[in-house]
Amino acid sequence: LVAAMEGVEETYIMIKPDGVQRGLVGEIISRFEKKGFLLKGLKLFQCPKELAEEHYKDLKDKSFYPKLIDYITSGPVVCMAWEGVGVVASSRKLIGATNPLQAEPGTIRGDLAVQTGRNVVHGSDSPENGHREIDLWFKEGELCQWIPAQAPWLR
Ligand code: ADP
Ligand code: MG
Repeated sequence: LVAAMEGVEETYIMIKPDGVQRGLVGEIISRFEKKGFLLKGLKLFQCPKELAEEHYKDLKDKSFYPKLIDYITSGPVVCMAWEGVGVVASSRKLIGATNPLQAEPGTIRGDLAVQTGRNVVHGSDSPENGHREIDLWFKEGELCQWIPAQAPWLR
């Protein structure tokens, strides 16, 4: 899916149910748009339990796992695929630390959240997981391959 351009990656970003409920969808999408990454896929989606479990399978032995699955399936999420040079690590910086109280001001979690268990947004932690998660959350035909006319240098 990713164009053969050096350093171009794709990442899965998801606005969690609390971000949707609190009306933060536009604010969060803006941060990735303004940074200059390329939006490849976007949908509002009620996540089935099985998908949440597959997405977070590496955490299934953690004590908070059942609550995490309840949280992610508690209401619609916004699923996004973003592309760009270094987009995986850069998105993690834009998002901030897992615990919002430790996330720097200026980051999404640092500015908009308080609790680890309600930290408003997800971002893939490696290019491999970026591919894995985009494949998991999007069907074929839901992603757009395009080059923005106004700013082709951004990708
Ligand atoms: P990140 O989302 O920053 O990559 P992790 O992959 O470690 O963080 O954890 C996935 C998600 O699980 C977190 O974003 C958060 O929603 C939840 N989580 C992690 N640690 C805890 C915890 N100690 N208590 C409650 N929820 C947690
Ligand atoms: Mg993680």
